Amino acid sequence: MAQQRKIIHVDMDAFFASVEQRDQPEYKGKPLIVGGQPNSRGVVAACSYEAREFGIHSAMPCSRAYRLCPQAIFVPPRFEAYREVSNQIRTIFWHYASEVEPLSLDEAYLDVSYTAELDGSATRIAQAIKHDILMKTQLIASAGVSYNKFLAKIASDMDKPDGLYVIQPDQGEAFVADLPIGKFHGIGPATEAKMKNNGIALGRDLRRWTQNDLIAKFGKSGSYYFNSARGIDERPVRSQRLRKSLGKETTFAEDVLSVDELLSKLYILAEQVLSSLKKQELEARTLTLKVKYANFQQVTRANTADDILDLEAVKSLLPALMAKTEAGTMPVRLVGLSLSGFEQKKVEKINPQLDLALNEAIQ
Ligand SMILES: [Mg+2]
Repeated sequence: MAQQRKIIHVDMDAFFASVEQRDQPEYKGKPLIVGGQPNSRGVVAACSYEAREFGIHSAMPCSRAYRLCPQAIFVPPRFEAYREVSNQIRTIFWHYASEVEPLSLDEAYLDVSYTAELDGSATRIAQAIKHDILMKTQLIASAGVSYNKFLAKIASDMDKPDGLYVIQPDQGEAFVADLPIGKFHGIGPATEAKMKNNGIALGRDLRRWTQNDLIAKFGKSGSYYFNSARGIDERPVRSQRLRKSLGKETTFAEDVLSVDELLSKLYILAEQVLSSLKKQELEARTLTLKVKYANFQQVTRANTADDILDLEAVKSLLPALMAKTEAGTMPVRLVGLSLSGFEQKKVEKINPQLDLALNEAIQ
């Protein structure tokens, strides 16, 4: 078996509500609801642990939360404050991890397989992260430690609040065997119901199925479930270092006057840029051409397309952009192109407004 990875899932406890209780001491120890007003059609975005004791939870209509606990304090969300904390905790994550994959403002996967600090002990690193977060933000996080994302995430939920739970590599299979199917990553209520109809309630039930049967019954995800039932999850922790643009340029050994020659060089650069864009699962709409003349004067010309740019589109845009320069008249020493206006291929919830109800639902 390849060397085990060390993955930590960090999740702030009752995040929005805890920030409010930190910033407004009179809210401390009280049932607090962040979201809509009690008489509005809004939903609970987050609630304090004191509110949870009344049966209130995220995504519940505020009117219902009010009926359950009329004395609760209702406050609107302050996303600026949450984002500030989010940036602080991400800085801490990057201190310890080689890869950081945020899931929301208050949650992230960390790959600490290559971290040398604290003897490379993922458990001690998780402790240190919790400690640093508390020192920096006065807020409490829970952490789950394991050898893959699926188990690390479940682990962070085991011991909340202020949890630190470790699932060692030799415990993974047994842990998964006892796990209710609805707790598996990627198994939502619909799949859960379907599985239960097929006699699958726990990980051990899932494990009785062959991969082919699972695929036949549940489609493409079948092999993912097959592996999950064995505590296997190979998904990498994917950092999203936000790039604004991706480009390449080349300086010619001798100045070039021929537009065709410039274009054929640019086509090669375009291929390279698009392939690294693809590797990063990014898609771009804006193409920028850069031309530096022999006299070192430099111009850029850009075009934003309605559609995602592929190689064909880039190739067809370049001559028009080139025509807006002096290339062909003035000798050129450097050409470059860059792509920007990125969209993440996979839909990432980066807008916390949209994420409101879901954000805390998985706490
Ligand atoms: Mg949380």
